[in-house]
Amino acid sequence: MASALTDKLSRLVKEMRGQARITESNVQDMLREVRMALLEADVALPVVRDFIARVKDKALGQEVMGSLSPGQALVGIVNRELAATMGQGVSDINLAAQPPAVILMAGLQGAGKTTTTAKLAKHLIEKRKKKVLTVSGDVYRPAAIEQLKTVTAQAGAEWFPSTPDQKPVDIARAAIDYARKHFFDVLLVDTAGRLAIDEALMNEIKELHAVLKPVETLFVVDAMQGQDAVNTAKAFKEALPLTGIILTKTDGDSRGGAALSVRQITGAPIKFSGTSEKIDGLEVFDAERHAGRILG
Ligand code: GDP
Repeated sequence: MASALTDKLSRLVKEMRGQARITESNVQDMLREVRMALLEADVALPVVRDFIARVKDKALGQEVMGSLSPGQALVGIVNRELAATMGQGVSDINLAAQPPAVILMAGLQGAGKTTTTAKLAKHLIEKRKKKVLTVSGDVYRPAAIEQLKTVTAQAGAEWFPSTPDQKPVDIARAAIDYARKHFFDVLLVDTAGRLAIDEALMNEIKELHAVLKPVETLFVVDAMQGQDAVNTAKAFKEALPLTGIILTKTDGDSRGGAALSVRQITGAPIKFSGTSEKIDGLEVFDAERHAGRILG
């Protein structure tokens, strides 16, 4: 646990040795440090406030067990609360649907949707032994359709063609039809992303959702996005019943505070994290490890 502490926190932990209880006065400095650490990790301010209030509630008046100091006890509470907020032990992709189980990928352009679609295809083929079809509903960028074709081949899955003159909902219907006739277990649907939230895009993905009736609607979000992740997450949550989050680019040098913000705003579990640009760079999300990283 010591590795999950800033130097300042460690010092405060030491200073609190010998005190038997966590009290308003002895945790104030600690909580201020935790707050700073979260803000430095780019967790959004309202999320930080909520989090600190919850930790304080849990901590105040708590007897300190055995050899722990109130500082150490508080750090334990902070770590547990962080991991709990981010949803430790969440399950794999839900495929409990009449085949094909449809998975809808949502998120901003550049978040890593297309890459992650292929990573998931590979995961479902190798770990879940499924027959997987992918399709792109990004009719605005022919290059995105081609990109999905390329990465789908790398994943060993099958790709369903689409063209820029088609409507996304028509592509969706045709892909489901094909998947049914050819006994695919899973259909992964990549979607258009814009650089910022825009109403037309949101309406389009809502329509797609209505047609596809996906068993999973996954929000793909860049861990490097920082504070902006909150607004993106809010907009997608309002538009779609999100069932999970995939946090990409966790191999970057950000402390990944976006994880906490996005998780709290959407209420959806973070299922996987992207750990490289490569097709096998996908891991089941480890909330505890990520909590340590956020604390710095
Ligand atoms: P989309 O616009 O949302 O479909 O995003 P792309 O899948 O095209 O990804 C955008 C960029 O991010 C590409 O250069 C990807 O290689 C890169 N990328 C995606 N996921 C990860 C990841 O987990 N780690 C790293 N380092 N790069 C990633």
